[in-house]
Amino acid sequence: MSGQGEGNGRVAGKVAVVTGAASGIGRATAKRLIAEGARVVAADIDETGLAKLAAELGEEALAAVRCDVTAEDDVAAAVALATSRFGGLDIAVANAGTGTASEVADHDFAEWRRVVDLCLHGVFLTVKHAGAVLRAGGRGGSIVTMASLNAIQPGRGMGAYCAAKAGVVALTEVAALELGRHGIRVNAIAPGLVRTTLTEGMWSIPGIVDEFLDNTPLGRFSEPEEIANVALFLASDEASFVSGSLYSADGGGSTRRYPDM
Ligand code: NAD
Repeated sequence: MSGQGEGNGRVAGKVAVVTGAASGIGRATAKRLIAEGARVVAADIDETGLAKLAAELGEEALAAVRCDVTAEDDVAAAVALATSRFGGLDIAVANAGTGTASEVADHDFAEWRRVVDLCLHGVFLTVKHAGAVLRAGGRGGSIVTMASLNAIQPGRGMGAYCAAKAGVVALTEVAALELGRHGIRVNAIAPGLVRTTLTEGMWSIPGIVDEFLDNTPLGRFSEPEEIANVALFLASDEASFVSGSLYSADGGGSTRRYPDM
């Protein structure tokens, strides 16, 4: 079952690469793009998760490939697969990322490097290789990067993550500046807390759920599909004049408020 025909063809005929596609937001995005008529290269290090996705979606519209986004050859090969398998590239979603939990004064340097390597360098390599292929293709395109509310809002114990995600926003803006003249749009998404494997450890930390909900005007977490919807919009021609933006999808969590009176 390809999933095609369930949507409205909002990305019909387009070819996408999605990193971190075996789980969470990336998985939901790959599924949503396919449901809206795209063909997708799903790139991830998790081969078991990729196999499950392929079993669900079939091979007509999905090419699953093992890819470590911190390894340049892997990223180049995943991007090239879009052309060899589906005839071109229109969309890249640089989504793979990870979390961390250590205060700056205690942060182990190797762990800091691991987080920045995946969350920032992995996005750089994806934007670099997708950008080069899109530019050479000469038919424009859309690149979506996965930043975070933490790119603009600090969190205790999240130094490496916040720094990397702020870097993703800066990288996105520069890429939008450079690739715009080739008709390529580049935008970042800043999700708030999303219910995925990445965040499941947080639910058991005392008080954190209440504090988070209190800081979120919509008063709830989001599901991965709600972030995938934003990625779909930015990837599609509906966002034809949107570039260089940081798109919030955080239930209003980025609003600054006075204390309740
Ligand atoms: P997730 O853990 O559910 O999925 C992440 C995927 O990335 C996994 O499939 C994993 O195998 C893959 N991955 C890990 N290392 C990789 C590597 N080196 N190369 C390729 N793939 C790799 O997480 P998620 O919540 O879906 O997160 C996706 C993105 O969204 C991340 O960049 C994350 O920082 C961002 N984000 C998540 C939240 C949230 O609350 N979940 C909030 C803001 C931003």
